[in-house]
Amino acid sequence: CGIVGIVGEITVADRLIEGLRRVEYRGYDSAGIAVAGRDGHVERRRATGKLKELDRVLDANPADGVTGIAHTRWATHGAPTETNAHPHRAGRVYVVHNGIIENFRELRDEMEAAGRRFETQTDTEVVAQVIDYELEKSGDPKAAFEATLHRLRGAFALAVLIEGMPDLIMGAREGAPLVVGFGEGEGFLGSDPLALAPFTQRVAYLEEGDYVFVTKRKTEIFDRKGQPARRQEKLVQLSA
Ligand code: GLU
Repeated sequence: CGIVGIVGEITVADRLIEGLRRVEYRGYDSAGIAVAGRDGHVERRRATGKLKELDRVLDANPADGVTGIAHTRWATHGAPTETNAHPHRAGRVYVVHNGIIENFRELRDEMEAAGRRFETQTDTEVVAQVIDYELEKSGDPKAAFEATLHRLRGAFALAVLIEGMPDLIMGAREGAPLVVGFGEGEGFLGSDPLALAPFTQRVAYLEEGDYVFVTKRKTEIFDRKGQPARRQEKLVQLSA
C-alpha cells in the first residue's frame, strides 16, 4: 500500500517510518522495514497492526542501517500475519511491493521446481525469489532485476534492497504509482510524493514500465525497453 525507500549515510529506520506515516491514511494491516548498514549487512523488522507496533519492535530491537526500504501492507494474497508482511526475503534480496503479481503461481512453481523454498503465502515473495535466482546466476543485481521485470505480469510498484549493497535501491513501476525523490547526497523512492515530503520536495514521477537504480549520488531511470529515460523533476510543495 505504502512504499518508502532511502539511500543514505545516516541511520534511517525512524525516517522510513515517518515516511510511511504520511501515507498511513490509505489503510494497511501490517508494516515492515529492511535496512542495510555501511557494511552491507541487512536487518529486517516487521509487525502486524499499526506503525506504533513496528515502533515497539524497533524500540526493543533497534535496526541500524543507512539505506532501507519500508512498506505498509494491504493484504491481497495471504493472511495479514507477520510472516506475510513485507519486506519479503529470498537469499540476499529484500522486496516491498504494492499491487498484485498475476502470474505468481506459475513463477512460484518454477522456482520451487528449481529447489527454492518459500516462506509466505503472498504473491510478492516470488519477486524476491526470482531476483535472487537471477542474481546467483549472473552476479549482477541490475541484470537480475531487469530479467525479473520481464517475467512479471500484473500491477506493481517495487522497491528492492540487496544484502552487501548499501548504496543501491532498485525500483519499478507498472500499474501502481512510484516516484523518485532527489536529495543532497541521498536518494529516495516513494509510492507518493507525500511519503517523501519530510525529506525532499524534488520528485519525478516514473511512467508505466519504468525502472530505476537509486544511489546516493545518482538516479538512473530506464523505460520498459531498457533505454535511459528522462523524467521531469517537479517541485511538490507539501508541508514537511
Ligand atoms: N499483493 C501484495 C500482498 O498481498 C501487496 C499488497 C499491497 O499492495 O499492500 O502482500
